[in-house]
Amino acid sequence: MRQTKIIVFTGGVLSGLGKGVAAASIGKLLSQNLKIVPIKCDGYLNTDPGTMNPIEHGEVFVLDDGGEVDMDFGHYERFLNINCKSEWNLTMGKIFSMIMKKERKGDYLGKTVQFIPHVTDLIKQKIFEIAKKEKADIVLIEIGGTVGDIENQLFLEAVRQMKKDVNSGNILYIHLTYIPIPKNVNEQKSKPTQQSINLLRKIGIQPDIIIGRCEEILTDHIKEKIAIFGNIDKKDVITGLDVDNIYKIPLIFKEEGLLDRINKKFNLQINPDIKNWEHLLNNLENPDKEIKIAICGKYTRLGDSYASVIEALNHCSANFKCKINIRWVETTDIKDIEKKIKNVNGVIVPGGFGNRGIEGKIHVIKYCRENNIPFLGLCLGMQLAIIEFARNVCNLDNANTTEVNENIAHRVIDILPEQKNIHMKGATMRLGSQEAIVSGKIKEFYKTGRVFERHRHRYEVNPEYHEILQKNNLIISGFSSDKRLAEFIELPDHKFFVATQSHPELKSKLEKPSPLFYNFIKACLE
Ligand code: GLN
Repeated sequence: MRQTKIIVFTGGVLSGLGKGVAAASIGKLLSQNLKIVPIKCDGYLNTDPGTMNPIEHGEVFVLDDGGEVDMDFGHYERFLNINCKSEWNLTMGKIFSMIMKKERKGDYLGKTVQFIPHVTDLIKQKIFEIAKKEKADIVLIEIGGTVGDIENQLFLEAVRQMKKDVNSGNILYIHLTYIPIPKNVNEQKSKPTQQSINLLRKIGIQPDIIIGRCEEILTDHIKEKIAIFGNIDKKDVITGLDVDNIYKIPLIFKEEGLLDRINKKFNLQINPDIKNWEHLLNNLENPDKEIKIAICGKYTRLGDSYASVIEALNHCSANFKCKINIRWVETTDIKDIEKKIKNVNGVIVPGGFGNRGIEGKIHVIKYCRENNIPFLGLCLGMQLAIIEFARNVCNLDNANTTEVNENIAHRVIDILPEQKNIHMKGATMRLGSQEAIVSGKIKEFYKTGRVFERHRHRYEVNPEYHEILQKNNLIISGFSSDKRLAEFIELPDHKFFVATQSHPELKSKLEKPSPLFYNFIKACLE
């Protein structure tokens, strides 16, 4: 395929309808033998979500290249089995800062720098550059937010103009809306969709396909109605069914004829082999066993904050045919904390920042260590496991992390030396894929001695304490390639007590679960 095809995704009526999952699902259906490149456009002025609280924006997803990007990239990587690049996340913050730099350099000398054409041209230029550089067969462009928002107007204007740039046969506009079924009328309603299509048309975009998110399959009648208002074929109105499991969505779209419609419009004959996907999905839907896993954190109010951890567990569910019930444990209140993790089959302490809830987590880790409960520590989770071990096994009173307290005798977790003089906040952590040389159980789990996982942290296990920790029987079974940093730890004579400075959840896939999560769940099942 020579000419890159472009599919633009917009959303209407409500935010949070799952545009990212919808786009990733379509990508999944199209991906066989084709190079798919997802681009996400976010209207906010942050350079990237790295400086946002996960409660505000959901999980910050980290890429191999160290990019801190929108969590939709998690869906793209999990559905498409690809490694995305940070430049594929275009934010208005990035675009504006490029514009300002260009202006100072004199690139627009003599001109008034304007939203149109200068900003929109730059957006298009960036998208076309990515398509070319990646030799993309299909570019999926997801416009964040909802049509009608002020923030995404320039992105929408840019993708509107693209139709002329690439010729109409090479671009499709898919609009995702919401079809409510109000309780009092108990009937699918199309009005919000009609109004949202009007908003889209007002800015000059005629949708080619409309996906109506609904709790039921759309009736013929409602499809007809939307088709008339949307000025499209009835076959181009597709149900985006509410599901309890996002991995079903590609199959639903296929059933609804979406792939056929895209094939027809682009003149393609894509027929993906999704047997393995279907098999895993079937496992997910028909578990033959059940376990309970506690996740201890401070953002437990919002599942999106730990999206990748949840997905990594889903991947294990599918591969073990096991239902995993998550118990969210808020650790800010230490009272009764043991009660909250009694009867669980395993405990995860995920990543986090700041000091809220820290002592509660340390308490939970101690309980797991002493009671032979499978424990998986991720990033902050590993740092706290070290603090617990230092305090209670090595008898280092008040051992702590300097992230919480600078004035302590035993700084078992301390700032990375290269981080000491960094005061700027965006993209300044130790980020992205890092190599670890592993041994012990970790080597068995990964079936290799060289492991690459993604990172996002400022603190590390203080190398001055490696010896005393090891003397007390803690195994450091993974070091950074310069041999300085502890990347993986484990305890002998424990069912499963493993932690890592990395975030293995970020690379877990339905068809290839993270080895650490996989073996953790295996231990929980024993
Ligand atoms: N706050 C810790 C650090 O910066 C852990 C970070 C994390 O869990 N991602 O090192």
